[in-house]
Amino acid sequence: MKKFEQKYDKLVITTGSAPIVPNIPGIDSDRVFLCKNWANAKELKDNAPKIKSAIVIGAGYIGAELAEGYSTLGKETILIDALPNVLAKNFDENMSKIAEQDFKDHGVKLGMNEKVVSFEDNGDSVKVITDKNEYTADIAVMCVGFKPNTDMFKDNFEILDNGALIIDKYMHTSKTDVFSAEDAASVHYNPTNNNQYIPLATNSVRQGILVGKNIAKDTVPYIGTQSSSAVELFGRTYAASGLTAVHANILNKKVDSITYEDNYRPEFMLTTEKVTINLIWDPETREILGGALTSKYDVSQSANLISLAIQKKVTIDELAMVDFLFQPNFDKPINYVSAAAIAASEK
Ligand SMILES: Cc1cc2nc3c(=O)[nH]c(=O)nc-3n(C[C@H](O)[C@H](O)[C@H](O)COP(=O)(O)OP(=O)(O)OC[C@H]3O[C@@H](n4cnc5c(N)ncnc54)[C@H](O)[C@@H]3O)c2cc1C
Repeated sequence: MKKFEQKYDKLVITTGSAPIVPNIPGIDSDRVFLCKNWANAKELKDNAPKIKSAIVIGAGYIGAELAEGYSTLGKETILIDALPNVLAKNFDENMSKIAEQDFKDHGVKLGMNEKVVSFEDNGDSVKVITDKNEYTADIAVMCVGFKPNTDMFKDNFEILDNGALIIDKYMHTSKTDVFSAEDAASVHYNPTNNNQYIPLATNSVRQGILVGKNIAKDTVPYIGTQSSSAVELFGRTYAASGLTAVHANILNKKVDSITYEDNYRPEFMLTTEKVTINLIWDPETREILGGALTSKYDVSQSANLISLAIQKKVTIDELAMVDFLFQPNFDKPINYVSAAAIAASEK
């Protein structure tokens, strides 16, 4: 390692994130993989033709996508998570259950509510031992989240509990002339109006742009995030923005919610698909705090609409009456997002 000193006018820290690797006995086996960067992805891809079975640990977006991928390739696949449901951090149970049924229908074995306690490398396979069961497969892949790559900075900066550098709306850290952004930094989460760690490309690209715009002088403030996100599993879209009812409960935030179901376009069309929507709002202000959709139709852009509604503090009553287009190829005379908002407003 070469040490040198370099003076700077402005410093930008974008050291990103690293996969969380829990201190579980046996985790250093060559049969236990990570899934973060291009090298990890290449390793998993090169390895895929050689294996017949895989255990994916962590049923968030990345683990769920990986399990879908292995099952689509015809591998015996097991998906394990310590939480009670798949995608539990982004969706409420009704939508997780739809995903879980799809996994089961495609032969994926689920080990929800199970915490991995150790790994045993058997030479030609790996045994994953949880607090409830034991599973054996050719490989295991850890997808249990990310932590900021900030070890070398965190003693000198204001940080979140996990080490993410706290930044203000102009991307300044707690030190003068030092900026941060992306997976190394916190984001302002609008539904709870505080700083959180949400390592997404969506936040990263916008914060990166803002460092550029603000590096000479404070010019454009960050407007925060709703943590909008989506995934496609077995031909079904799951898209969400803002709080889930479960997340609100964990945060002790009082919310009201509804689930609305309808076909996305009229039944007289040659085909249509069911859409399920969850809407979450503040019962006092009636402002929308979260929403999620799932359908075999591509409903992902409706999560972006809900994101804007949360951002602009739109109420359920306003969303119910927004001028949405109608054309039978695309939707019903009352668009499914309006229809959900009408149901919320009437509740
Ligand atoms: C499998 C996967 C799928 C994803 N899919 C989505 C998605 O669909 N949508 C979405 O919004 N987000 C997604 N994300 C998240 C998204 O990829 C990240 O939020 C984004 O890439 C973060 O960018 P970054 O530049 O902050 O960090 P990183 O990509 O982690 O890059 C940081 C860089 O800094 C370097 N570095 C670290 N420390 C040092 C040091 N001391 N010296 C020099 N260099 C250093 C690292 O080597 C790395 O190259 C996904 C992430 C993963 C892993």
